[in-house]
Amino acid sequence: MRIVRTVLGDIDPAELGPCDAHEHLFLDTPAQPGEEFLDRDRAMEEAQTLVDAGARSLVDWTPLGLGRDLDGLVLVSRATGLHVVAATGLHRDAHYTADDPFRVTPADALAERFVAELAERCGIVKVGASYHRLTPFEATAFEAAAAAHERTGAPVCVHTQHGTMGLAIVERLAGLGVPPVSVILAHVDRNPDAGEHAETAATGATLQLDGPGRTKYWPDSTILRLVADLAEAGHAERLLLGGDTGRRNMLRAYGGGPGLDYVFAHFKPRLERELGRELAHAIFVANPARAFAWEPRA
Ligand SMILES: [Zn+2]
Repeated sequence: MRIVRTVLGDIDPAELGPCDAHEHLFLDTPAQPGEEFLDRDRAMEEAQTLVDAGARSLVDWTPLGLGRDLDGLVLVSRATGLHVVAATGLHRDAHYTADDPFRVTPADALAERFVAELAERCGIVKVGASYHRLTPFEATAFEAAAAAHERTGAPVCVHTQHGTMGLAIVERLAGLGVPPVSVILAHVDRNPDAGEHAETAATGATLQLDGPGRTKYWPDSTILRLVADLAEAGHAERLLLGGDTGRRNMLRAYGGGPGLDYVFAHFKPRLERELGRELAHAIFVANPARAFAWEPRA
């Protein structure tokens, strides 16, 4: 039986409801000094705005070593009623200091750790890639994530840097035994190239667009266009949407903006108006219920 593993336990994928597929409720990384956010009350405050905007679930992509707070996620879930899916795994190389113990942990030990976390409160295994390349640290994490996938069935969720290497990542994971249907690629909209996206989606991998509200880089209309182009190319079932509020200055509870609810309060209604409610339902409800669901292996 396929389930979605949340921090409060397994749920039927049909219970996931409208889902923000990529967020961070807690994060602290040496790659973004001064941008940490670790306060539980503020996390609850932000999460409540997302609930008020109509979300029923959230996937938190903060992996090991970066301020992830599983007990905090439990508290947020209990206080707001949001289904929260947490990540094990590792981020891309640049998020770990030179002396971080994860740098000298071999793949099999990493896999053990990932598997143990997936057996408890984590529902996805995350890895990260650098800009147009994989560092040795990242390659080791890929190996470990693939081993953890093989043993658990959990989806492998990948940070792409500026949306680069999507297809190469899918192929690399396939070579390690992870079928494309179990792969989710984040941030593909940072490289707003619908042709490349269609090629990657054709493998069966899921593409996540998570840049709404990043107005200094591109307008939301660019992302809507990508969604429309991918849907027209027959890949509506391969799309996820998230907000990826990965910095303190993006959260209203810390005096920033646009806030955790931006995707649901602003982007989703616009997508419904411009591209139709049926496509919105696929992207926010049906696709997450498929992409984040897995059948736990003994
Ligand atoms: Zn993120």
